[in-house]
Amino acid sequence: MTKPRVRFAPSPTGMFHVGGARSALHNWLYARQHGGALVLRIEDTDASRNRPEWIEGIIRALAWLGIDEDQYEGPYFQSANTGEHTKAVERLRAAGRAYFCDCTRDDVIARTGDSYKGYDGHCRDRGLEAGPGRALRFRTPDEGTTVVVDLIRGKPAFENATIEDFVIARGDGSVLFMLANVVDDMTQGITHVIRAEEHLSNTPKQQMLWEALGVQPPIWAHVPVVVNEKRQKLSKRRDKVALEDYQAEGYLAEAMRNYLMLLGWAPSGDREIVPWSVIEEEFRLEDVHPSPAFFDVKKLRAFNGEYIRALPVEEFVERCRPWLGAPYAPWAPERFDEEVFRALAPLAQTRVAVMSEITAIVDFAFLEEPDVDEASWNKAMKEPAAAILTAAVEAYADVPWTAEELKTRTEAIGVEHGLKLGKTQAPIRVAVTGRTVGLPLFESLQVIGRERTLDRLRKALGALS
Ligand SMILES: [Zn+2]
Repeated sequence: MTKPRVRFAPSPTGMFHVGGARSALHNWLYARQHGGALVLRIEDTDASRNRPEWIEGIIRALAWLGIDEDQYEGPYFQSANTGEHTKAVERLRAAGRAYFCDCTRDDVIARTGDSYKGYDGHCRDRGLEAGPGRALRFRTPDEGTTVVVDLIRGKPAFENATIEDFVIARGDGSVLFMLANVVDDMTQGITHVIRAEEHLSNTPKQQMLWEALGVQPPIWAHVPVVVNEKRQKLSKRRDKVALEDYQAEGYLAEAMRNYLMLLGWAPSGDREIVPWSVIEEEFRLEDVHPSPAFFDVKKLRAFNGEYIRALPVEEFVERCRPWLGAPYAPWAPERFDEEVFRALAPLAQTRVAVMSEITAIVDFAFLEEPDVDEASWNKAMKEPAAAILTAAVEAYADVPWTAEELKTRTEAIGVEHGLKLGKTQAPIRVAVTGRTVGLPLFESLQVIGRERTLDRLRKALGALS
């Protein structure tokens, strides 16, 4: 077998859809596993979709997923291949496989009934010449079936009689996507077309074009549609679908690509979180399940948390960097303290599910005053909060400044008030960190020091009285 050539062919739209990310990974893996090549093709024939920054966005998104520029040929641009598109159209017309048609949609409806049932072949033998407003239609066979070979779906068969004579070039001479896409695949020697399920219905038409142009059609693979929790196809209006948004929120690339590969597939054994090397070894496009795949954001989030917890602390610290400065961090840059952050990092690492959460979880250590959450304050500062804070100021004044000692003293305060530790520490936590939930309290106090702790306790007491 010759080595496969596959392609990833996004349209530049200003955002990189998670479904596209999955297609890119599938194509890349298929090429790598079979010693083949991956081609990146930008389908940019719509002139309004031709912004250079969007193309850079695609290249950056691929790199984020691990598909660096040395992993593919290209980018090629569909707009640079219009000469070949036109030649193909001309060949089909010259061979009698396509004909001009001047019917409007209303003309067709008038002939076929009150709804559009597809084109009726009216102009097939009228012998119209090219002219303004005359579209070129591909003449589909009246009989037989078109069987496509699909690695995921077997051999779906389409009745040719149900496929209308479809337009391949508009009245103004511009070619349709259906044809441009096929001609580009031919030009680039594509052997396997791996793409999303929504293109399946185009496949028999495209295969007819391959055959009519005298080239062996590719092997197809239509990966399942990605749906939300209501089983609706992911949509950019309804769902969070932009890879860049996940990236900006602090999803790790390795978690994202692991998760994307689980849409319709699972590695061996009872595991889901696996190193990329395992995926690369075990993944088989043929094993992808054809039914719709649920893109479960909650699960992805949990996945990401697991990936974060598995990082070495040093690595975690480095990955936090983007969120420790402008525009994310609410503290003045000069108040950031590397040592303090390093001391808090291991505590924080087990408590963030996405990296952007790091900012709020450590802000108490770097803000002049804690950012007090009103609901937390109202909840924690009830009787006997003032008495607890007073006792804490007293007890903390001379306690050896370790988490363990602070805990022991705080427990003792609780005993005096008949409270468990959790209730006792609530007003202390809100006074020092501004919130009812966060990092382990006594370790946090140990890190920020006696002076700041006492200062905040006193200020909270002042606010209470
Ligand atoms: Zn017609």
